[in-house]
Amino acid sequence: MSIRWRLFLTYLVVVSMAVGIVAVSAHQFAASHMPEFFHTNLHGSPMKRGHLFLQTIDESLIYAGASAIGIALALSFTLSRTLIGPVTHMMRVTQRIANGNYAERASIHRVDELGKLAASLNVMAFRLEQTEEMRRKLITDVTHELSTPLTSMQGMMEGLLDGVFPPDRETFTLIHQETVRLQQLVHNLKELSILESRSLSLDIREYDLILLLHAVIQKMGPSFLDKQIHLSWEHVPPPVPILADSNRMTQVFTNLLSNALRYTTPGGRVSVHLVVTGQEAVVIVRDSGIGIAAHDLPHIFERFYRADRSRARSTGGSGVGLSIVKEIVELHGGSIEVTSEVNHGSCFRVSLPLLHEENDAHTPAGGI
Ligand code: ADP
Repeated sequence: MSIRWRLFLTYLVVVSMAVGIVAVSAHQFAASHMPEFFHTNLHGSPMKRGHLFLQTIDESLIYAGASAIGIALALSFTLSRTLIGPVTHMMRVTQRIANGNYAERASIHRVDELGKLAASLNVMAFRLEQTEEMRRKLITDVTHELSTPLTSMQGMMEGLLDGVFPPDRETFTLIHQETVRLQQLVHNLKELSILESRSLSLDIREYDLILLLHAVIQKMGPSFLDKQIHLSWEHVPPPVPILADSNRMTQVFTNLLSNALRYTTPGGRVSVHLVVTGQEAVVIVRDSGIGIAAHDLPHIFERFYRADRSRARSTGGSGVGLSIVKEIVELHGGSIEVTSEVNHGSCFRVSLPLLHEENDAHTPAGGI
């Protein structure tokens, strides 16, 4: 049975019950007072007048009953127009969205619950549209990212077969580099999908962030030396306790430092500062590298975004690293920001919640 009919029957029952109760009580009230009326009245037969009186009441009740049906009909019709109409409209919209038409929106502009429901439906449709857009973009990007090294390997293999390339160490090194790039890309994609699905189980323990950063800096130190980039490291007095998955946190800072190393020319500077502000530990990784243009900045945490595609390709980047960094930092309840100026360098700030509250303002100390 449709809601429209249910509404009508509910009204009918309610109004009929009201009429019925009034009818029974009026009838009984009249009957109980009839004897006085019959005996005191001067004209006509008392019995006949009594019956006439009761008949009048019964007739008026029949009219009342008929009016009740009419009112119930009118009310249910009006209400069904104002309530059921929007529900039916949203039902149709939902069906179209379910069929993949994500641009569909409910056009209901009311301030009541139905208006709020329509607004939620529209938000849901908008999110679905965005997800679909991202899915399409991801497929395009992945296809592109996979096809580029594959094409390059195919070209080199064909060159080898045709004798255009000599089968020497240099050629095999180039092919090997492309396979490494492919493997790295597949690895990053796997990582990103695990992180984004929130199905990653973090091994959260208490760590001193200073020790964690120190280990990363020591591990990466030789690469900076090789490229003749000065790496400095300053931090507040230990300890700076945080709750973290040390492997994942190490991945975050390794990635930021690798980028700083990759996008800074020899002779440049990279610094790591650890400060404590309020309830947060803030790690600032600053470089004097090539910087990021203002129009690229809002996108660099997006998957596969590379500020300068050709340049990033030559430097070996795939544009996935920072998306992974952001996911990991957010999984730890933190945040990451970036500021940059072309040809002057970039500055990444990672804020992480501190484990204890007793950390007051500290002054930087220490160094590498
Ligand atoms: P990639 O693997 O390409 O480095 P990321 O996600 O780590 O991917 O970085 C995305 C893009 O952001 C890079 O391609 C690069 O254009 C830019 N970028 C990241 N870090 C820096 C930096 N320290 N200096 C200049 N550009 C950077």
